[in-house]
Amino acid sequence: MAEAEHTEILVIGAGIIGVTAALALQSEGHKVRLLDRAGVAAGTSVGNAGAFAYADVEPLATPGIIRKAPKWLLDPLGPLSLRPGYALQLTPWLLKFWRASRKDRYAAAVKAQSELMHLAQAAQERLITEVSGEPLMRREGQMQLYEGAASYRASLPSWELRRQHGVTFELFETPDAIAEIQPGVARRFTHAGYTPEWMNTVDPALWTRHVAEAFVARGGTIEITEIRALRPLGQGVEVETASGPLRAAKVVLAAGAWSHRIARTLGDRIPLDTERGYNTTFPTASFDLRTHLTFSDHGFVISRIGEGLRVGGAVELGGLELPPNYKRAEILVDKAATFLPGFETTGGTQWMGFRPSMPDSLPVISASPTSRDVIYAFGHGHLGLTQSAGTAQLVAALCAGRAPGIDLSPFRADRF
Ligand SMILES: Cc1cc2nc3c(=O)[nH]c(=O)nc-3n(C[C@H](O)[C@H](O)[C@H](O)COP(=O)(O)OP(=O)(O)OC[C@H]3O[C@@H](n4cnc5c(N)ncnc54)[C@H](O)[C@@H]3O)c2cc1C
Repeated sequence: MAEAEHTEILVIGAGIIGVTAALALQSEGHKVRLLDRAGVAAGTSVGNAGAFAYADVEPLATPGIIRKAPKWLLDPLGPLSLRPGYALQLTPWLLKFWRASRKDRYAAAVKAQSELMHLAQAAQERLITEVSGEPLMRREGQMQLYEGAASYRASLPSWELRRQHGVTFELFETPDAIAEIQPGVARRFTHAGYTPEWMNTVDPALWTRHVAEAFVARGGTIEITEIRALRPLGQGVEVETASGPLRAAKVVLAAGAWSHRIARTLGDRIPLDTERGYNTTFPTASFDLRTHLTFSDHGFVISRIGEGLRVGGAVELGGLELPPNYKRAEILVDKAATFLPGFETTGGTQWMGFRPSMPDSLPVISASPTSRDVIYAFGHGHLGLTQSAGTAQLVAALCAGRAPGIDLSPFRADRF
């Protein structure tokens, strides 16, 4: 047997990125240990909207956003906000974000994102089959709603972009056309784009646990311990954990929004920050939701989770330490009740999660610039669930030294 097949690999972080990568590496014959300070789906992967959003190829840093952003940022409860206590710390990230919004960089990011989406979609379908995961999926499409013709017209370039990148969709220009797919939406929403191939999981926490269970059933181990530092050895890596040092031939770092802190111990400075997001989950569905709804002008979505509904979204630039501002979640619920008359808003549970975000909205999928034995897999922003199986496939290729199938240079850790 080749040496690589005996490699012991430590995967740090048991969110959707880490568990999916651990399973993919195990499937290639590696002995894999998954480490997390709090357990499976203990971070952002527990509470997201559950969407496989392959159609969302556009990064947040779009050309011209810098002109629009100040207006949003000044509205403390608008869809995009910056916590004043975090502004200074975020300045270097915002400068990189601004540079990423240049036309050429934006176009390159869309291309890279689109290639990753195609790979991720195919990989996700294989994974669903491999772990018998179909009962945990919902294939009900997604509808993006617009309030009036002007808002719809402004969205058309992004639909054209999707068309160019192979996304299938239909455009609706009357409330009646919308009602054929989703009855009950307020008629102020006059236009929509519908993506029929969009898929959701019934619950992102259940899906993450399901993948982790498959990993354990095949002999993988999951250990609870905090990772404090990584040290490259001549061959392999030493990992300092709260329960003592560990050695591995390779380490995959998939610690979500906290990954840059661990990368720093290697000497790598990665401009990872967080876009905090909020949601409220209602255990029973008071509204007959037939497809995943996106209210583009208001920065939130409504999805079915289990037997209930989840209303969530917003982007708050506020770092990892400031306390949540749950007014953001309340505002989204108030809007949901207005936009979907009959939506009952009692008994919901609020949540805030930390999207792990790079300034150009592309993840880091790359060897560490300091140690080729450390593979980085983090920074998926709004799309970690969507891109998890694709990322796992790429991580497995990087560990094996195989050609990855797509150009990975846009995802390098040292691209900034
Ligand atoms: C409101 C909201 C809605 C979203 N909706 C969607 C959606 O519909 N579709 C989609 O694709 N994405 C969505 N996302 C984004 C998605 O949730 C994230 O991109 C994804 O969960 C990131 O996964 P991860 O595994 O990288 O990180 P996480 O799930 O955060 O996992 C990281 C893990 O690392 C562990 N960890 C951290 N530091 C250490 C340490 N020092 N030692 C040991 N362990 C450590 C943590 O305990 C955690 O378990 C949404 C996010 C939010 C906030």
